[in-house]
Amino acid sequence: MHNVTLIKGDGIGPSIIDAAVKVINASGVKINWEEAEAGLGAFEKYGNPIPEATLTSIAKNRVAFKGPLTTPVGDGFRSINVVLRQTYHLFANVRPAKTWQGAHSRYENVDIVIVRENTEGLYIGSERYLDDNNTAESIARVTREGCENIVTYAFEYARSHNRKKVTVCHKANILKYSSGMFLDVARQTAKQYPDIIFDEKIIDAACMHMVMHPEQFDVVVTTNMFGDILSDLTAGLVGGLGLIPGANIGKDAALFEAVHGSAPDIAGKNIANPTAVIMAGVMMLRYLDEHQAADKIQTAVEKVIAEGQFVTSDLNPLQPVGTDAMGEAIIAAMQ
Ligand code: NAD
Repeated sequence: MHNVTLIKGDGIGPSIIDAAVKVINASGVKINWEEAEAGLGAFEKYGNPIPEATLTSIAKNRVAFKGPLTTPVGDGFRSINVVLRQTYHLFANVRPAKTWQGAHSRYENVDIVIVRENTEGLYIGSERYLDDNNTAESIARVTREGCENIVTYAFEYARSHNRKKVTVCHKANILKYSSGMFLDVARQTAKQYPDIIFDEKIIDAACMHMVMHPEQFDVVVTTNMFGDILSDLTAGLVGGLGLIPGANIGKDAALFEAVHGSAPDIAGKNIANPTAVIMAGVMMLRYLDEHQAADKIQTAVEKVIAEGQFVTSDLNPLQPVGTDAMGEAIIAAMQ
């Protein structure tokens, strides 16, 4: 029996998480789900987007499965995702994007894993106003240790997953210190992995290459903000955000979620694709060494998407089913 903290989240979160939990339970794995709250819903209820009980639950269980959390745009509370990643030092955000048979996309051969630094850099939102609120300053603080942790993780991931190449994406031509240090660490680390091809690309050119020739990319390691953007780009290469899972990994804790957000434009309509969060569940089961259950779910998801009969509107706009019905179809495909 595994103890896992379950955060349903905001917007489409509760409906995709409900579908995913049913699928995971149906795989035969024994999980004691400990439900906790976070995000906009928690803020509206308790005046606190990350209640103490949620932090305690994750600290105890060391594994969490969560839906997306809304972060107010422009003002309001800071990202709770950033808080969780920093609190449990979940330094590696692993986001695999692979072509799905049956999911319409422009490419047939995408297989890219973004390994994003998750606790440092511009994305953590270390900001202030100066000059009577007429100047805004955002600080991108990067440590050598943080760069070493994530770059080593990427090379180890490549080696253990039989991957051939690691590409570092950076902006060291302009950000000579913060991005420069990241690149320098990547170059030094690459020397310890002669079995892995090492490549480096400036982030803007990397985007162009990735859109034109995604097959040239394998494992990609990059800083927090670039990884955030690149992983949505890779989602676009394989059929959309409804398909891409993510794992936030630390040395002694991990949190699993979809790459996408709370999707307010489709929330409450039972039309969100549950695949991304179900596949985040598959990543969680592999982390928990439950490979049989993980394989069972993955095969069923692949079958349902390839058949295209019981899938949500992002995959079959003409004859879609709802989030819950797609989850049920995946459970049926596991039998
Ligand atoms: P989003 O990822 O929520 O949505 C972008 C687009 O993708 C929308 O058109 C949406 O309908 C679509 N989409 C997303 N998930 C889908 C799914 N499962 N099935 C079908 N379509 C799907 O991004 P956004 O609209 O920019 O952000 C909304 C909120 O989510 C913001 O408050 C943002 O801060 C938050 N967010 C949270 C996380 C997280 O919790 N990890 C990640 C990203 C964004």
